[in-house]
Amino acid sequence: MSSISALHAQLTSGTKAVITTHFNPDSDAIGSSLAWQNYLNQLGLEVSVIVPSAVSANLTWMPGAEQILNFEDTLHRVQIEALLKGAAFIFCLDFSGMQRLHGLSHPIKAARGIKVVIDHHLNPEDFGDYYYHRITAASTCELIFDLIQEWGDDACINEEMGSCLYSGIMTDTGSFRHPNTTAHVHEVVAQLIQKGVNTNAIHRKIFDSASLDRLRFLGHVLANRLDYLPEYHLSLMWITEEDQKQYNSQAGDTEGIVNYGLQIAGAIWAILLIQRPDGIKLSFRSIEPFAVNEFASKYFEGGGHKNASGGRFSSSSIEGAKEKLQEVLPLYLSEINRVKNL
Ligand code: 5GP
Ligand code: MN
Repeated sequence: MSSISALHAQLTSGTKAVITTHFNPDSDAIGSSLAWQNYLNQLGLEVSVIVPSAVSANLTWMPGAEQILNFEDTLHRVQIEALLKGAAFIFCLDFSGMQRLHGLSHPIKAARGIKVVIDHHLNPEDFGDYYYHRITAASTCELIFDLIQEWGDDACINEEMGSCLYSGIMTDTGSFRHPNTTAHVHEVVAQLIQKGVNTNAIHRKIFDSASLDRLRFLGHVLANRLDYLPEYHLSLMWITEEDQKQYNSQAGDTEGIVNYGLQIAGAIWAILLIQRPDGIKLSFRSIEPFAVNEFASKYFEGGGHKNASGGRFSSSSIEGAKEKLQEVLPLYLSEINRVKNL
């Protein structure tokens, strides 16, 4: 592993590069990728952004989003494979483990380009040649901002790039309310506003752009797919494949739903089970000081941040996943009782 400062001089005009990010890319993943692409383009590199699954509709307004190549789209796949062969650099943004690339992990592993990891997740795997990694950063967008500053290129941060960066910072901090919202986060945002970023317009584009189906879907989940388990201070939610079909659920439509569980007085954590053809996807959220990443990695092949983690259950039975939870929840009772009184 080499120091990231040695990288800057290698980013020369005409160099080919690829940027990639995690499955179900969120606003931080897409925002950081497009901002980094914009910067590298200004340095004269030829850069493509490739993603393992579709970009959700509320992010397609970001400048450059229309050029993103999706590995799940068979028409894009041939192009992606050729780009990976020709790339001198592969930038891996907003993920710390290869399994988060799903089907794209094999082609990325096989690619010969120098791998540069820019990320803020815990326990990064050792797959990169260069790392710019800080778990105290609230978002990868914040890291992109910091790195460009460190390299003395503040002038490259234009309004378009700033809008992408603001999106990731805003969403990964839960609109500046999660405990990861440091003074530095606000300092970065202040500088982005000075560069002309319209924070109000971006908030509306990301959060107030739902379809009627999506709003009714949320209503259905809150009314019929939410239990509160008071002894565990846990909100448990689930979404079936049938629910997703009935409400015409699109990429990104389940994003953020798990957070509603934390609005119940007394709730310390919330879990959302989403039924997918290949298994159940789990989302975990918690309030300080309860850590869900350990629970996610111990019992559900996952991990993530202290207060926001993900995982999976290998069968696609919601009942099966609930049974597994009923088995392991009692093991957490003493920890829950310890933190609820803090
Ligand atoms: P979400 O519930 O939004 O899918 O994920 C919440 C957080 O947990 C995200 O920051 C994501 O990066 C992380 N995360 C989700 N799934 C996994 C996983 O399987 N492994 C790890 N290490 N982190 C995950
Ligand atoms: Mn992130």
